[in-house]
Amino acid sequence: VETVGILTSGGDAPGMNAAIRAVVRTARASGMKVKGIKRGYAGLLNNEIIDMDSRMVSEIARLGGTILFTARCKEFETREGQQKGAQILKDNGIDGLIVIGGDGSFRGAQKLSELGINTIGIPGTIDLDINCTDYTIGFDTAVNTAMSAIDKIKDTSTSHERCSIIEVMGRNAGYIALWCQMANGADGILIPERDAFNEQDLIDAIMHNRSKGKTHHVIINAEGVGHTNRLARRIEAATGIETRATVLGHIQRGGSPTARDRVMAATMGGYAIDLLHRGETNRVICYKDGKYVDFDIDEGLAMEKTIDEYQFLISRLMSVY
Ligand code: ADP
Repeated sequence: VETVGILTSGGDAPGMNAAIRAVVRTARASGMKVKGIKRGYAGLLNNEIIDMDSRMVSEIARLGGTILFTARCKEFETREGQQKGAQILKDNGIDGLIVIGGDGSFRGAQKLSELGINTIGIPGTIDLDINCTDYTIGFDTAVNTAMSAIDKIKDTSTSHERCSIIEVMGRNAGYIALWCQMANGADGILIPERDAFNEQDLIDAIMHNRSKGKTHHVIINAEGVGHTNRLARRIEAATGIETRATVLGHIQRGGSPTARDRVMAATMGGYAIDLLHRGETNRVICYKDGKYVDFDIDEGLAMEKTIDEYQFLISRLMSVY
């Protein structure tokens, strides 16, 4: 690979910039040219391509978001769109492409690989919902942001002896909820990996603990379970305890990345360049069982992952529900 392109795609995540910085710097150190593609596959189809040098990425590791912008693009899901994208890459002299994003973005990368572009995926999503890897860029920052926010809500909820239902992100995955349950000491979690929860059991648990003198409750609800406002209203109606809903929302997607997100993103960025240097294509970089590894994208997409049962068990033992 002589010229490497880089894009960020799908939902943004803190730490993406640290990965971009590492890609640019390690590529330059290996004698490759780097081109940045703005707005993911949408920008690719619009030929929004810029030259990148080492100086352009100085000081970006500490910035949240992605300096390349991100987007979703329906056209790229079609064969014509993919062929057009591959041609635009070739016209710009780009023979290797690094895609930072989630499963959908990797499917796009896989198509480009079939069309002769060497592609490498780097996992970037706060939800941790990529099955082939135990770590995704942004999760650590998002959990820390949610944890700080929940600490604050707990202060006021405790003072007023309320019940709080707090919704954290995670459309298909309950990792942020599980980590916050343990980090914040919440009284229960609702996550999409579990079968429909029994609302009456939750209400009974709250009532039982109130009768024993517990003065406040915090329940963490994952986005994938949803209906947080409705749940709060029903709990209030059933228990008579003042119950408030808080949806943390996009606050969890922003902010300066943690050291862990910066360092892991940088390592994955450098690893991606190493793979391109060795002529690899259609690979996704992962962190698994404490090691950086890479898988064929098709194999990676076919893997399955469940919430850590042991961690979940301990979390349940520490909570009311
Ligand atoms: P994420 O990468 O976070 O999973 P999306 O699922 O929204 O986010 O995917 C991001 C983009 O990747 C989509 O807007 C689309 O352009 C591209 N993409 C998704 N699925 C495919 C597919 N099956 N084939 C080609 N491109 C795809």
